[in-house]
Amino acid sequence: MIKHILFDLDDTLYPASAGLMQEISQRMSEYMVTRLGVPADDVDRQRKDYWARYGTTLRGLYIERQIDAQAYLDFVHAVRVEKYLQPDSPLDAMLARLPQHKSVFTNSPAEYARRVLRALGVEKHFAAFFDINFLAYASKPNPSAYDRVLAALPARADECLMIDDTARNLAPAKKLGMTTVWLDGAGNRYGAEGREYADFVIATIYDVARIL
Ligand SMILES: [Mg+2]
Repeated sequence: MIKHILFDLDDTLYPASAGLMQEISQRMSEYMVTRLGVPADDVDRQRKDYWARYGTTLRGLYIERQIDAQAYLDFVHAVRVEKYLQPDSPLDAMLARLPQHKSVFTNSPAEYARRVLRALGVEKHFAAFFDINFLAYASKPNPSAYDRVLAALPARADECLMIDDTARNLAPAKKLGMTTVWLDGAGNRYGAEGREYADFVIATIYDVARIL
């Protein structure tokens, strides 16, 4: 029986089409150019390389260039989220109907995650925030992130369901025995890599209730 739901935040609890992640992604590139002196025409290549080898741009910059991770996170998330997000009453209603405990499991900082959930009007549904600081910068899909989260939850892996728009983030959850859901939303930035680890595939976050 599923007792706990782990929700990814970005491009999962709101759609990729909102445009919020585009601005954050631009700010990641801007940080590399203006703060680290990376040539503008090489940023995309370096970020793809970090994505493949380390999972995220932050993880790559942290390991290879020893950046101040907190300064980076502050810079890239200094975005007015209300510009992109509005209260989502169907999401609010669906979350209210689901009896399971709910947490956010995100590679973003909790301070930003709270602002996002507040803008969506759904903050009250979430009991815990497993954010990049909780993960000690070992972001998804690093297996240690999942071990940390599971150790903090009052649930076994087989009682957890995890939802993420980045399919490869589901692999470690699946290996631990969680039920996994890939949100294959329009505008998915990462393609289908890892989709074989998804027990279910949904097109919008509103389909979660149907699975449960
Ligand atoms: Mg996401």
